[in-house]
Amino acid sequence: MSCPKLRNMGRALWQRSNRTPHLSPSAKIQAFACGRMVSGLSDGQGGNCCKSGANCASNPSATAMADSPSLSPSSPSPAHRHQVVGNKRSEESLAMPGRSYSSTVTKIDPKTYLWARYNEMKRLVHDLIPPGVCNLLNPSTIYANNEVNLDEVNIYGFDYDYTLALYSNSLDAMIYNKARDFLMEHYKYPQGIKKYDYIPNFATRGLHYDIQKGLLMKIDAFHYIQLGTVYRGLRPVPDEEVLQMYGGTHHIPLHHVSGFYGKGPKMKQFMDVFSIPEMTLLAATNDFFISNNIEYDPVHLYKDVSDAVGMVHIKGYMYKWIMQDVEKFILRGDETYAVLHRLVSNGKKLFLITNSPFSFVDKGMRYMVGKDWREFFDVVIVQADKPHFFNDCVKDKGMRYMVGKDWREFFDVVIVQADKPHFFNDCVKPFRRLDCNGDLQWDKINSLDKGQIYKQGNLFDFLRLTGWRGSKVLYFGDHLYSDLADLMLRHGWRTGAIVPELEVETKVVNTEQYAQSLTWLQALTGLVERMQMHRDPESSKVLQDWLKEREELRAVTKNLFNPQFGSIFRTCHNPTYFSRRLCRFSDLYMASLSCLLNYDLSYTFYPRRTPLQHEAPLWMDQLCTGCMKTPFLEEMAHIR
Ligand SMILES: [Mg+2]
Repeated sequence: MSCPKLRNMGRALWQRSNRTPHLSPSAKIQAFACGRMVSGLSDGQGGNCCKSGANCASNPSATAMADSPSLSPSSPSPAHRHQVVGNKRSEESLAMPGRSYSSTVTKIDPKTYLWARYNEMKRLVHDLIPPGVCNLLNPSTIYANNEVNLDEVNIYGFDYDYTLALYSNSLDAMIYNKARDFLMEHYKYPQGIKKYDYIPNFATRGLHYDIQKGLLMKIDAFHYIQLGTVYRGLRPVPDEEVLQMYGGTHHIPLHHVSGFYGKGPKMKQFMDVFSIPEMTLLAATNDFFISNNIEYDPVHLYKDVSDAVGMVHIKGYMYKWIMQDVEKFILRGDETYAVLHRLVSNGKKLFLITNSPFSFVDKGMRYMVGKDWREFFDVVIVQADKPHFFNDCVKDKGMRYMVGKDWREFFDVVIVQADKPHFFNDCVKPFRRLDCNGDLQWDKINSLDKGQIYKQGNLFDFLRLTGWRGSKVLYFGDHLYSDLADLMLRHGWRTGAIVPELEVETKVVNTEQYAQSLTWLQALTGLVERMQMHRDPESSKVLQDWLKEREELRAVTKNLFNPQFGSIFRTCHNPTYFSRRLCRFSDLYMASLSCLLNYDLSYTFYPRRTPLQHEAPLWMDQLCTGCMKTPFLEEMAHIR
């Protein structure tokens, strides 16, 4: 179903729900409710209603009230039904018990009233998302966090791994197996861990790992652990135990998780697509020690697993596997070629900055683009040592600009990153040229020339030598910290995040089951919020039933993505820590570079205005943004 159609349905829902038979018959209350509607509506219909007072009938809600037999002060409320089925609108009175401001309200059994509201809401949701609605999202869409006009972009930059080159998932199992073997061979870990095969889809990108406790978990944008997503080894940790371990809260303090690149002293965030097998190996080895009652220090285990996975990269195993069978491991190379060809054909300048070695990149690019791939690029830099490529000497350069070259004399003590004690002395890595065999040359680099390959270097020299500054440059990468953060925050380049997980998650969002579960979850949450003032024993039991159903719906919607950790973008209702960083560090994000093929090179991406919480009632035509609240605004009238 198209979005316009859904929007129309949303509006229809709003109009229809505003005709919902009303509980309070008194004119005084009608006027008051109308006043509340004004505060919740941005257009003039509510305003006219209340300014003129007598014109309240112009409000659809008021019209409905006048038409409804249940609104006659003398009309007794018909007996309500406990269950309402089908599309036929309920005729039961929804008179709300316990409202003290009207003496004419007919009191009814609170349990019956609440269930009538529940059924009414269910029917509204059914109308909004009828059976068969699916495929609302196109997996090839590019999403915008900021407005980007491609007409203004003349220079396109790319990371290589998981940006130009997408890899098959089969690589994950190979990295896992090799690192597990390293643990046994080089770190003398028990042979028992050999029994732990790779578990596809166990972990997801963006999770946090508590190094000291040995726990893998998902944290939201506000530093709260999503309960139900904490794993010790391969087993979930009960919520009560999580709260106990974190001092009675599931909030992780800033100083534990902070660190610009996601590395706090106690928590590590896994942001790399390559880190999926590492998280799985951590879980498996923890599980082995716990299951076999072997005492161990989780800190040692974390470091050993990290080193073992690092060796797979450092020793070149991964590069070797891919180079031996590029057809097997590199996906959709023809699409990468199509993107690059299109950009070059339109006169755009291209550059590549990657941490991978030249021989590896050359092999992959020859496969995807052809042996003349270097003709596509104006500058190629390999083994760039990102993120340091983008941020080395930032502080020195910035301070020199603001204060002068003697800026350090203003300070008694300057502490910089501990791993760079010589930051101010030898931090600038100059560019070095590689010859056609990939051997390092010793000549001083005074220009970055097309057709040449350069190693290392730093962004400041890059900017000085190319003059490529500001928003005319758009750089694509998959690592939010290493690829995009510095460019976005410090240098003003435009950034595009490649998030391969979008493709899989879009498939889930496009299912009818997800659309219906999520919409009903939102509606039920709104219902619980509005009806919570009913605190008599019968009502309390109904509300407990609803809260239980809400928990079940949350689990259902989470498990559709990943049974352990759910979506990489959402906790129950908040953005994840990953999601917040994605919004902060990328102007655009998409599943793969090939999404660019769906847009012409003069296209402007406009971010959608998403409602803040206090704006949500105004957004009648948006799904899942609280649009269900407005039909019941009048019921909140007593809350000031
Ligand atoms: Mg990459």
